[in-house]
Amino acid sequence: MTVPPMSIPAANVVDERDQLMKLAQTLSDVISLGLGDPDFATPAHIVAAAQNAMRDGLCDHYADRAGLSELRRAIAAKMWRENGVRADPETEVTVTTGGQEALYLIIQALLNPGDEILVPDPRYSSYDAAIRRAGGVMVPVPTEEAHAFDLFPEEVERRITPKTKAILLVTPGNPTAGVISPTHLRAIAHIAQERDLVVIADEIYEKFVYDGAEHLSIARLPGMQGRTITLNGFSKTYSMTGWRLGYVIAPAALTRAIRALKQVVSIAAPAVSQWAGVAALTGSQECVATFLTTYDERRRALMAALTDAGFSYGHPYGAFYIFANTASTGLPAFALSRKLLIEGRVLIFPGTGFGTAWEHYMRFSLLQPTPVLLEATNRLRRVLAA
Ligand code: PMP
Repeated sequence: MTVPPMSIPAANVVDERDQLMKLAQTLSDVISLGLGDPDFATPAHIVAAAQNAMRDGLCDHYADRAGLSELRRAIAAKMWRENGVRADPETEVTVTTGGQEALYLIIQALLNPGDEILVPDPRYSSYDAAIRRAGGVMVPVPTEEAHAFDLFPEEVERRITPKTKAILLVTPGNPTAGVISPTHLRAIAHIAQERDLVVIADEIYEKFVYDGAEHLSIARLPGMQGRTITLNGFSKTYSMTGWRLGYVIAPAALTRAIRALKQVVSIAAPAVSQWAGVAALTGSQECVATFLTTYDERRRALMAALTDAGFSYGHPYGAFYIFANTASTGLPAFALSRKLLIEGRVLIFPGTGFGTAWEHYMRFSLLQPTPVLLEATNRLRRVLAA
């Protein structure tokens, strides 16, 4: 008997990336500017807290499915202190197994078949798969290199129909490194209220903003708390991708639905990671400041190198990527990625991994030391000059 696979519409995108990563494994001396996985170790005080929790027998059983109360309280305190958002740890905070699970649970809990959701384009490809699996319809809202991939309220408004249920915002953005300007964010909040829409705010890159850009949580704007779902996690801020820890702040009714689904998917996030998360939020934040300074230094170096190589890009105000325009090479993105990998031993993800419109873009990540980033761009120039 053959078992037909369920259809996963994002499979093509994953395929392209998988193909490149598999190919990279067969080659030696590859520099990867691909995955969004920080190259730093998790800070020592966070690791120590996890070790202590294991030693003390605090990790041997299922945690509360909403998350450890210590962690939910630490998240609520952080949301108030840093984001100006009030969240009740009992009824509005849910700890998840990574921001990725948070994303999936939010979409499944919120969307009914046929509901439309507006998503800035280009976008993180997991949004597509989660939305379609819920039977939702993703409506891309274009953003542009010339405006540093800021999201324009009039572009959002123009795409609202009677079926629109939600707007998904990601700021700072992946893959674009764009930051939604506070003026635009306020206007989008106004639209959401006027048109009675839910806002999902993916704030996973909130700590990494540059050149005077500001991260503003839309949930803190007047009238927005009751209609905003905020998604965040520990992967990027604290270099903890392997720990799989994230969270959702949502109004109580939606939180109940999210927690019910969470029970089915994974019961609870790993207790050991949750104790690490408590240490991350309640301990010194110096590690985050160091990451930010380092990413900024790398960002400046890569911007200069890409400009020298003749590539333009949307100004990277946030996150740890540069979304560069590779039209000058004349090659479509996937072919260019393959060529750079085979001939230059540099792995860079093609723009088409973030939406079909992005055939002439590539996403560079800043997750290598500056000399390695510069070596990667030297290789790129050599391949293109040949
Ligand atoms: N949202 C965005 C925009 C991301 O880029 C990622 C990770 N690449 C996630 C959510 C999920 O991250 P994690 O599951 O590691 O918290």
